Amino acid sequence: MTSRYPTRDEWLAMAGEEDELPPDALRLVEKAAGPEPRQKRQRLTRRTRMRQHRREESNLNVGGLLGSSDYGLLKQLVRERASHLCEKCGRENRRLTPHHRKLLSQGGYDGADNLASLCSQDHDWCHEHPVEAMAAGWIVPSYENPATYPMLLFDGRRVILTPGGEYEQAA
Ligand SMILES: [Zn+2]
Repeated sequence: MTSRYPTRDEWLAMAGEEDELPPDALRLVEKAAGPEPRQKRQRLTRRTRMRQHRREESNLNVGGLLGSSDYGLLKQLVRERASHLCEKCGRENRRLTPHHRKLLSQGGYDGADNLASLCSQDHDWCHEHPVEAMAAGWIVPSYENPATYPMLLFDGRRVILTPGGEYEQAA
């Protein structure tokens, strides 16, 4: 249990640092102001965080976190990008979890370019081996942009993940 990666809600509760968040995140926050999340716990957490974002709109340092329903669609988009295979090991019939390449605690945001679809084994591995994971692009450093930071796929390709949920060959 000690090595367990924090859940999304735990991250939201913990991530108090807002000063590293990308400027273009404002658009996502505006989008997130749409449908209300269903689960009570999530609603309270997100609502609190959205209020913080609103307060800080003036300097554009806001977090790009989506509400539950938009996040659900985003997760689906990312899973379908890899035809429901783990993007690191390529195995199928595994439970897939969305992994924020730039961690939420490091200014990561909800976007197809920042999410990898990983089996829980590889998800854990990434967080236990950050140096190796960073070299392969499964983790993006806080000072880099996920939209331009290539990721190694299970088939050996190095790809850029687009915000629209597609792969582009990395230069
Ligand atoms: Zn895997």
